[in-house]
Amino acid sequence: MCMNFRNLEEDFRRLESAGADRFHFDIMDGHFVPNITLGQDILNSLRSVSRVPFEAHLMVENPERFIDRFLSADIIIFHLEATKAPIRLARSIKSLGKIVSVAINPATPPEALTFLLPEIDEILVMTVEPGFAGQGFIEQSIKKVKILKDLLYRENPSVKIEVDGAISVDTGRRLREAGVEIFVGGTSGIFMDGGTIEENLKKLKEALDKI
Ligand code: ZN
Repeated sequence: MCMNFRNLEEDFRRLESAGADRFHFDIMDGHFVPNITLGQDILNSLRSVSRVPFEAHLMVENPERFIDRFLSADIIIFHLEATKAPIRLARSIKSLGKIVSVAINPATPPEALTFLLPEIDEILVMTVEPGFAGQGFIEQSIKKVKILKDLLYRENPSVKIEVDGAISVDTGRRLREAGVEIFVGGTSGIFMDGGTIEENLKKLKEALDKI
């Protein structure tokens, strides 16, 4: 949602050639979050533009209703807070051959994921409240990642942790040290003044790769 909407295809190509490992689509329904953004048509129409994996971050109520609209995504991320049957949903996403990721909001404790851990591949820790670009980083997120890392060590060490929200060189490095492996770049890390999107992406990746 941070890309130039008048030139989406060009931004995709530029970021892919600069080394983007994934493209992250923020899907908002105006109910789970107070904003409306991209839908399945944009994701599906851009699929042929890039070979890089696509991830659909569903910030929607009752995500089970929408899964079959995002079959061209490689990774499907749903919010723990948005569904009443997360284990059933994780299994149905897996049965479609997709990578399953569960997102948690800043106030959701990591322990809430305990019994879901054998069912999923990744966890997305929201480091801002979901809904808008350009918010301030929530410092508690560092502590949360550390707690989650301990929990994963005991329950399912193969699960990867991803972070989303206000990821810059500074917050990214601290999260990396806490155990994060996947970073979503937005207006704090890639789409900002002071460099091209390629330069900013490379700078962010270099800073995180060094740790
Ligand atoms: Zn997102």
